[in-house]
Order: sequence, then C-alpha cells, then structure tokens
Amino acid sequence: MLTADLAPATFEAESRTALDEARAALARLLALPGDASFEVVIGAFDAIGRPLDRVRGRAGLASQVHPDGQLRETANRVIQELAAFGTELSIHRGVYERLAKLDPARAPSALEARLLANALRDFRRSGVDRDEPTRQRIRELSDELVRIGQEFDVNIASDTRSITLTEGASALAGLPADYVAAHPPNDRGEVVITTDPPDYLPFMSYAERGDLRRALWREYNQRAAPKNLAVLQRLIEKRHELAQLLGYRSWADYVTEDKMVKSAANAKAFIDRVADAARARLHAETDDMLALKRESDPAATLVHDWERAYLVERIKARRFHFDSTSVRPYFAYRNVRDGVLATTAALYGIEFRRNTSEPVWHVAVECFDVIDRGQLAARLYLDMHPRPNKYKHAAMFDLTLGVDRGLPQAALVCNFAAPTESDSGLMLHRDVETFFHEFGHLMHHLFSGRQRYMAFAGIATEWDFVEAPSQMYEEWAWDTGVLQRFARHHQTGEPIPAELVQRMREADEYGKGLHVGGQMFYAALALDYYDRDPKGLDTTARMIELKRKLLPFPHEEGTYFQASFGHLHGYSAIYYTYMWSLVIAKDLFSRFQPNLMERGVAQHYRETILAAGGTKDANELTRDFLGRDYSTEPFERWLNR
Ligand SMILES: [Zn+2]
Repeated sequence: MLTADLAPATFEAESRTALDEARAALARLLALPGDASFEVVIGAFDAIGRPLDRVRGRAGLASQVHPDGQLRETANRVIQELAAFGTELSIHRGVYERLAKLDPARAPSALEARLLANALRDFRRSGVDRDEPTRQRIRELSDELVRIGQEFDVNIASDTRSITLTEGASALAGLPADYVAAHPPNDRGEVVITTDPPDYLPFMSYAERGDLRRALWREYNQRAAPKNLAVLQRLIEKRHELAQLLGYRSWADYVTEDKMVKSAANAKAFIDRVADAARARLHAETDDMLALKRESDPAATLVHDWERAYLVERIKARRFHFDSTSVRPYFAYRNVRDGVLATTAALYGIEFRRNTSEPVWHVAVECFDVIDRGQLAARLYLDMHPRPNKYKHAAMFDLTLGVDRGLPQAALVCNFAAPTESDSGLMLHRDVETFFHEFGHLMHHLFSGRQRYMAFAGIATEWDFVEAPSQMYEEWAWDTGVLQRFARHHQTGEPIPAELVQRMREADEYGKGLHVGGQMFYAALALDYYDRDPKGLDTTARMIELKRKLLPFPHEEGTYFQASFGHLHGYSAIYYTYMWSLVIAKDLFSRFQPNLMERGVAQHYRETILAAGGTKDANELTRDFLGRDYSTEPFERWLNR
C-alpha cells in the first residue's frame, strides 16, 4: 500500500497510470452512443474516478506521514495533479451536457437519480455553465488554491518551537514523574520543552510556573507566524474571488450551500445560538478560575489563556478530588489500543486480526485486518506516535474505498507518547477519548466503502454530519463498563475503579462552558474570515475583536493564533460543523443508553448510518436510525445539566 521504501519515481509513475486510466474512462463516457441508457451513462460517469482510488488516499497520507522528504514532495505534486484533474472534470462541458440530457424519470432506481442530481448540482457549483474565459480563471484559481493551502499546512507542520528551561528539572514542578523523566536536563543542565502536543498539553495543564506556561503558550501561538499571515490572506482572497466568479456573495455562502446547514446566515445563527446557550456557564467557570487565582494573587482581575488549563485542573482536583493524572496508570498505550479494538469488535461482531506481513511506511506502524463473518472485509493501519516531519494532530486518513471488490482501507494518525522499555506510554483520558473519536471515523469509512457507485462510497455524507459518528463514539470512553474491559493498572493489573470513573465524569462536566465557548470562538472566526469582502481584512485585528466578543480572556500581544489554525485551510469557513455534528451525536447516542454494548442497536446503526455512506441525505440517515427527525434537546440537556 504505502511502504517505507516506495521510490518517488515509482509513486509518480503509478499515479500517472491511474490518471491515464481515469482519462480513458472519461473518453469512454464521451464516446457513448446518443441512445445509451440512463444506467449506462451514469455508470460510465461514476467509473471515471475509480482508478484514482488507488492513489488519492495514498498521496494524502504520504504527504503527511512518510519519513522520506522526497516522497512527501512527490505526494504533494500528485495531490496537485489529482486536484487539477478533478477541477478539469468538474467544469467539463461535454460531460455536463451528456448528464444534463438524461431524464431523471428514467433512472432505474432512486440511487441513480440521486447520483445524477448530485452531479448536476456539483457541476453548477463548479461553474460549468460559465463562459470559457471564466472557466479558465476558475481552473487557475482552483490550482492556485491547492498550492496555497499546502503552503499553509507545511508552514504549520514544519514549525515546531520550544522553550529552554535553564533551571533544569526544578522548572518542571507540578508535572507527572514520567513527564519529568522523559525530559532530562542536557549537559548544560537545560530542559527543552517543544510545542508538539505530548510536550505542550501536559505542560499547560500541570506546570506550576506560570511564567514558563506563558512563554510556551506564546511560542505555540506564534507558530507559522508571520509567514502564514500572508498565506492566509491569499487563501481568503482567492477563495472569495472564486466564490464571486461562481455567483455567490461570499466563500462562506458557497461552502455551506451543500451542507446540512445550507447557508452562511444559518451557520451564523447556529453559532450565536450555541454561544448564547453556553455563556452563563462560561462566565461562571471563569469566575471560579479568577477566585482560585486570587488566592495567590489578590490583585488579579483577569484570567489569561495560559492559565486556563492549569486553573481548571486545580479546580477539578479541589472540587471533585479528581486529578487527571490519577487515571493515567490505567491507560497504558497498548492496553488502550487493544481495548478500543476489542470494544469495537464486540460492538459490531467483527474481529481485528494483526497483520505483520503487509509492508508499512514506518517501523512504528501496525496493520490490522478486519474480519467480518469469516471474511477479510477491510484493513487499517495505526500510526500513533510522534516523530519528526509527521502530521502533528490526530486524524483518520482514508486510503482506499471498497468499490470494484477492493478492500476499504484507512489509517489512524495520532501523536500519543510511545511506550518504551521503561515506560508503558501512559495516556491522559482525553487521549483515550481522541482514540475512540478517530476510531469512530475509521469504522464509518471502513463500513461505508463498499457501494455500487463510487460517488456514494466512504464518508460521502454532508460535511457537517461527518463528526457525528466520531463524536458519538467518544461516549464509549466515558462508560464504566466499557472502560473496565481494558483500563487496567499498568503495574497491578487492577481494573479502573468505578468510583474513579464517576469522579472523572463529574470533573469532565466542569469546563463545558469553556469548551463550548472556545469552540464557538473558533467557529465564528472561521466563518467571519470567509463571509466578507477580504479587501483590507486584518486577520489579527478581526481575531482580537471576535475574541473580545465571545471569550472573557484578553488577547496576548504578539501572538497569532490564526497562523497555525490549520482548519482555516482544510475546513475554511465551516468549523461550526463539529458542534453541529455534536448536537446530532447527542441524539444518536440516546438510542444506545443505558447499555452501550447492545449488539442489536449497533447493528441497526451500522446498517442505517455507517454502511449507507452517501446514498441518502444525512437528515434521512438519522431518521432511518432514530425513526424520527433528530432533536436538539439531548444536546441542550447535556450543556445545561
Ligand atoms: Zn473528527
């Protein structure tokens, strides 16, 4: 699939071949006789993308994780070529006219009718009906946007910063012992802490020295700046130009049109509504933090960003007698990995079988086969620990769909501290939650890959529904029964005590206002940048303004959060989608209560939602599962409980 020794030239040649095959399929569609049936034409149209399934996912993954820098560059070039072909196809007048001539009434089934309707909508959204000079400009802008987006991502991925603690280990007061052990002083007695998540996140939660947290927070929020400030400006301007060429008021209007939310105005209303619903809680929690801070600093009037995680942690310890490090001994990496696999296997009645013969791209990567009713049904890869030049966050990367009797394949890419001989790689519970989250995406992809039509295979639903299965699966990480299946003390083997899980859950409830408020700030910022004429836009000034409106924490001069806010490329205006999906996830989850391991419910969920891929609108999928329209009530109850 993706191997460590894959030569850039080989990869490039394979990608060319796949592109040639796609072009040949395009030619076959155009050469069909005028009286070809609806089914034949739609089938030929759907066949164009099929050869690309071999290379598209692989290029996306390789560009983010492959150890060979040259291959990563090749992969980025392949992505550009694939995107260029995608653009070419999306504004191909001949293909559009061929499809536009089909009579929807003659579709053999609702599936083919849906494929046609979606294709015609996408053609219109691509500007196929515009004049040739306009279409030429659309092509140029689309190609340019791929390059600008890659530049934005690369600037973030390549800018790991650090602070040097000259007082040595004493500067690590408050941090867990294994963290201190993993950061020994160098021969000058200095300790280096980087902005990579395994270094950064614990430091912000536990380091007692506020001045050092501030220094690290500043480094973190200066990543990719100033370079990406200019790149972001170009990204926003070019997207705006493209949206206007296509007849939309703003990029935000364009990008929301084919989502469940339908328009930028609806997205804004949703963000405002959720921010309002969370406001009282957000301010109460901020007051708590300020009160705690005043115990050591009586004159304090404000809480700063670099104090939030630390103070929340202290409040939880005091109020709920819960310290998030206290559960770490139960979450050794290998136990968690085996637990997530076993839980998922039990839930869906499948088996994960370790595959050691399939080559991988790095020695740390593990491959598993998914066995369903005795048959090899899918394959997954786990690339779970940080290394230089690797993607810095947690994400599922799809590799192949399952059309044409192929195997649905995907990789999870995370950055959890790796277990070593002396250290079992103890994880925080939030990392365990992330593991379940990403596994929710993974199972969605693996179960939905096998479709008759490529267009519906994989996670091909509306984008604002995509996070619902993953956010719902996070709930499994909070259930005592589920946790006790695998969370065993790494030294004593004792399962995690129910009473400890209960306190962890209570502590988790705390900080919901901060979390939802923070998410709505990100969502508002992303929507705002893309819902305007960018002429004269100062992204920093606008960020400060929105932060003032939505969050009670002052801006820290000289920091540029937006420069490393990677979603501004990948998600553009639609960061709101996470919360939108969460609203739906809370309702889907209500069906799994009280017994999360109920096989019948899981089977029904797998069939109606996961395996359905893009064959229906997300509203319909949720209705198929719930037997009614989804409701916002479970979310509101959760937020205000
Ligand atoms: Zn996700």
